[in-house]
Amino acid sequence: MSLILGLEGTAWNLSAAVVSEEKAICEAESTYKPSQGGIHPREAAQHHASELKDVVSRTVSGAEAEGYSLKDLDAVAFSQGPGMGPCLRTVATAARTLSIALKIPLIGVNHCLAHIEIGRWRCGAEDPVVLYVSGANSQVLVYYSGKYRILGETLDIGIGNALDKFARHLGLSHPGGPKIEALASQGTKYVYMPYVVKGMDMSFSGLSTAAKDALTVHKHKTEDVCYSFQETAFAMLTEITERAMAHRGKTEMLLAGGVGANRRLQQMLQTMCQDRGARFFVPETKYLGDNGTMIAYLGLLMLKTGNTTPIENSMVNPNFRADDVEVTWRD
Ligand code: AMP
Ligand code: MG
Repeated sequence: MSLILGLEGTAWNLSAAVVSEEKAICEAESTYKPSQGGIHPREAAQHHASELKDVVSRTVSGAEAEGYSLKDLDAVAFSQGPGMGPCLRTVATAARTLSIALKIPLIGVNHCLAHIEIGRWRCGAEDPVVLYVSGANSQVLVYYSGKYRILGETLDIGIGNALDKFARHLGLSHPGGPKIEALASQGTKYVYMPYVVKGMDMSFSGLSTAAKDALTVHKHKTEDVCYSFQETAFAMLTEITERAMAHRGKTEMLLAGGVGANRRLQQMLQTMCQDRGARFFVPETKYLGDNGTMIAYLGLLMLKTGNTTPIENSMVNPNFRADDVEVTWRD
């Protein structure tokens, strides 16, 4: 049996976890909360640097409580990208140090693929079309011929960042997504928002601006604007996901990433899947946001197929794309 330590710290959440083939054994985390505004990369990296020792120690103690020890670890996996450069570098340095000190292989993991693989693992989805929606990313992916192919994606900002940006305008603290969701549930009237789908790609940056105008220029109610923002953005996401399913003939759909926690988005996707006789999957909320368990789990899949990362190839890649990765762990 293999035992992997995973480290995640691409943005605001620092998280470490230990995973075996059988189960997620333990996880500890520490979240950077901006005092105002959005995530400041240098401040987030400083947060990670000062919290790393504590988070790793708590993870090791958690593993010990389950009967494992540091000596049992077979590899250390870390998020190699995409993400904020200063955050990625801080966590990668810790991962290299652990790999050298414990004399175990290092595994550089693509963060987006980790979101997908933990979803497949937790839900038992075989071969889904994936909608991956987080702060910085919004992509539709499907696996074929050795890679996860990106069939559609945002042309500018991720849906999470668009929601967070509008929430800041409303004076709400980070993360804004859940607060917009709560306000939207009180909205009743749809007001115009730009619906921008180009082929299989989408644009969200105009939505935050249109939402601000709907409030300040057109004097619509905050709840109605939040409702309209969500309805528009989520319909765009649902449309391209459905087109990907039709194009690839897939009968499974998996939702991944922090925005996946949104009930309205889940409901729209569920309805779309039902209408086409497809199965809709979404993992437990704690595995939707950034977490160390998903990094450890993909590290495990990679280790089992001999896919490790020599130190000299372990530099971080803030723009690491899912379709840059040769997938060794699927047939
Ligand atoms: P991640 O980058 O995967 O950790 O996801 C973080 C993003 O998810 C942030 O932009 C949050 O605002 C967003 N988010 C979290 N929960 C919700 C929710 N219930 N509805 C919409 N967005 C959410
Ligand atoms: Mg993420």
